[in-house]
Amino acid sequence: MSEATENAKAVFLDRDGVINPLVYNPVTLVYESPNSPDDFEVYPYVKKSLELLKLSGYKTIVVSNQPSFAKGKATWENIKEIERKLYDFSVGNGCLLDDYYYCYHHPEGIVPEYSIVCKCRKPGTLFPEQAVNKYDLDKSLCYFIGDSDTDIMCGKAMGFVTVRIGSERPVSNSGAVAPDMFASDLYKAVLDIVNRR
Ligand SMILES: [Mg+2]
Ligand SMILES: [Zn+2]
Repeated sequence: MSEATENAKAVFLDRDGVINPLVYNPVTLVYESPNSPDDFEVYPYVKKSLELLKLSGYKTIVVSNQPSFAKGKATWENIKEIERKLYDFSVGNGCLLDDYYYCYHHPEGIVPEYSIVCKCRKPGTLFPEQAVNKYDLDKSLCYFIGDSDTDIMCGKAMGFVTVRIGSERPVSNSGAVAPDMFASDLYKAVLDIVNRR
């Protein structure tokens, strides 16, 4: 494989439900994104999963919707502290993640400046498009791994191969859009990806 090809592929990763477990909310009775840093922990297989992707020449890029501040469900400090925990995990293990794109908007939020219709909220493709340009990626060699329909829709719109994680804590908006591949967790998804070609 040429050097150009080696640099041109990436795996895009949803965060909540893929890298870290969702958290049961006793008020809404569903599993949701963590709103406090105390509720954030990466799954035990994330390190070996990302190491394998790096070893196989993939850039690893997080694309995550984080509307909890816009909705008044989390403080800005907590949102940022959770991001810092993931960043520190990555850097502490030799930079396992290359980039992070977070959308803080929600069309029906209560914080005015974040309560807008934006192009960065998945399934919007603004962030993957920016990453494709920034890293000169070949879309046909890229993957999107996520646990929600919006992840699969976003990946498909980009022309990526899509992988749905079938979490043991399924999210409510999952199942209406067919992904290209299924996996029970991130590590299984990564094994399928690196063994695919
Ligand atoms: Mg998710
Ligand atoms: Zn946005």
